[in-house]
Amino acid sequence: MKKTLDEILYLVEKPARYIGGEVNSVMKDDLETKVRVGFGFPDVYEVAMSHLGMQILYGLQNTIEGVYCERVFSPWTDMESQMRENDIELFTLETKTPIKELDLLSFTLQYELSYTNILNMLDLGNIPFRSKDRTEGDPIIFAGGPCAYNPEPIAEIMDLFVLGEGEEVNVELIELYKTHKQNGFARKDFLEAAAKIEGIYVPSLYEVTYNDDQTIASFGPIHENASPTVTKRIVQDMDNVYYPENFLVPFIDIVHDRAVLEVFRGCTAGCRFCQAGMIYRPIREKSVDTILNLAKKMIESTGYDEVALSSLSTMDYSQIEKLIYKMIEDSEKDKIGISLPSLRLDSFSVEVLEEIQKVRKTGLTFAPEAGTQRLRDVINKGVTEENIFNTLEQVFTEGWNRVKLYFMMGLPTETYEDLDGINEIGNRTTHLYKTIQSPKKKGGVTVTISTACFVPKPFTPFQWQKQDAMETFIEKQKYLREIITNKKVKFNYHEAQSSYLEAVFARGDRRLNEVLIKAYELGCKFDGWQEHFSYDKWMEAFEICDIDSMFYTSRERTLEEIFPWDFIDVGVKKKFLWREWEHALNGEVTPDCRNNCVACGITQVFNSGGFC
Ligand code: SF4
Repeated sequence: MKKTLDEILYLVEKPARYIGGEVNSVMKDDLETKVRVGFGFPDVYEVAMSHLGMQILYGLQNTIEGVYCERVFSPWTDMESQMRENDIELFTLETKTPIKELDLLSFTLQYELSYTNILNMLDLGNIPFRSKDRTEGDPIIFAGGPCAYNPEPIAEIMDLFVLGEGEEVNVELIELYKTHKQNGFARKDFLEAAAKIEGIYVPSLYEVTYNDDQTIASFGPIHENASPTVTKRIVQDMDNVYYPENFLVPFIDIVHDRAVLEVFRGCTAGCRFCQAGMIYRPIREKSVDTILNLAKKMIESTGYDEVALSSLSTMDYSQIEKLIYKMIEDSEKDKIGISLPSLRLDSFSVEVLEEIQKVRKTGLTFAPEAGTQRLRDVINKGVTEENIFNTLEQVFTEGWNRVKLYFMMGLPTETYEDLDGINEIGNRTTHLYKTIQSPKKKGGVTVTISTACFVPKPFTPFQWQKQDAMETFIEKQKYLREIITNKKVKFNYHEAQSSYLEAVFARGDRRLNEVLIKAYELGCKFDGWQEHFSYDKWMEAFEICDIDSMFYTSRERTLEEIFPWDFIDVGVKKKFLWREWEHALNGEVTPDCRNNCVACGITQVFNSGGFC
């Protein structure tokens, strides 16, 4: 006899992942609901619930009259087995509605290796994988998020994509749906109408052809409503844009269990490997008053005792010291901790750090990214050895003794000298700690060196660059393992095989849809989780589909090549990225453009105000 949902919850590891009902989750009256929306996150609850975009869009979409937005996350494998065994379809967390009954279901694309989880969720919901196979009774399936800036590898799966920041465009899309539903909904008409909204890409309205050498010959619209260029959406006014005061508070531990306050969007540092630094331009800040006001309300509504100040580089917030002093003043009596998720080595302010330390002290993370100045110049990471060691000296003097240092391997022009440089930074750091004379010093030092394998991303100056071969990555990892002999330095690294697959999909084209579906059919899911990732199954899928995965990773591109993402206008222009690529190869640095514009192109598209 089949079990019910209530019964299977007793049989899974963490039932709280599936029950909903958390503080600040939204329940609505059925009668008032005209449009039912699902916010899908293709990973397990603990990851999904830590995502700021989920908190924003869940809250925002529930403010729209007549709309009910519920959450849909990937069930962990134990739950999935129970659901399949007992014929339970994937359901929303709030009302346990099968996802097939929703009107719209969105997915946020944070990581290329979560794509098979989207297929798994559709499969569990009995929804056809491909847009062309879905019929009037199926929900509209769409996606947004950073990976949507190259939508092509999942273009046949999505009915549409939302490009850029979601606060305005998602509302416009849902309102359009509402109107179509009132007037007798027809899927095709809705998609054609949606294509007219700025920032919306409907893949079925575009056609792509290929050259004999497999590169793209042409890419363009085949319907009058579809524009040859889709321009990303940005929010202009960060003080008045919706921000959730009522964060959802989970019953169980999640990856980041705290209130998160976004202080600004965009970045002007110009690191050449960083996609976020290019696609989220221009810089737009919230005012100190807005942030303080939100912090107060969030603490009241959630009971959290920690607020993370979030952005791409929070120390670059123009009012950072004022903000921190005010926050400390407001929160000290309640022992509210303030955390800064990542710190830049150049703009580091020890004064700010001291203020935070008064309340709570945690480990610190820095990202020099490369082991030598030469390579840091190539990637335009504007930090010097002096910056690094001055900062470390100050934090050690203040009593910190745990630091994590992030690096990338396989950056353009990298040599073994650059890897030696990583080891030297580790050794110099532990040596520096020994020399520190400070009453605040406690115990020994722990330095963790983490290396990731470099993945060239669209809309960066390195989008033309090939990725290191997997054997090269493995050799380099082995080399670092051998040379890092300092007992106070821990070394860890990211597996090369998953970075390879990430690189294939990051710059992939429409032909990868077939491979993705085949890989899922072969059993791939939770590819971002090492224990589930099967490189062999993926390679089998490429073979069955007769597609050479190395086409996407192992060749340098020419300036003339048409990229699958060229039709998207992110503001920053291709000619600027090419210029930066040439500067990189010459080891020439481009300073932070905050004080000296280097004409990336963003102002030609957006009258952005702010620093531009
Ligand atoms: S327009 Fe100028 S200042 Fe603004 S992000 Fe681009 S380069 Fe920087």
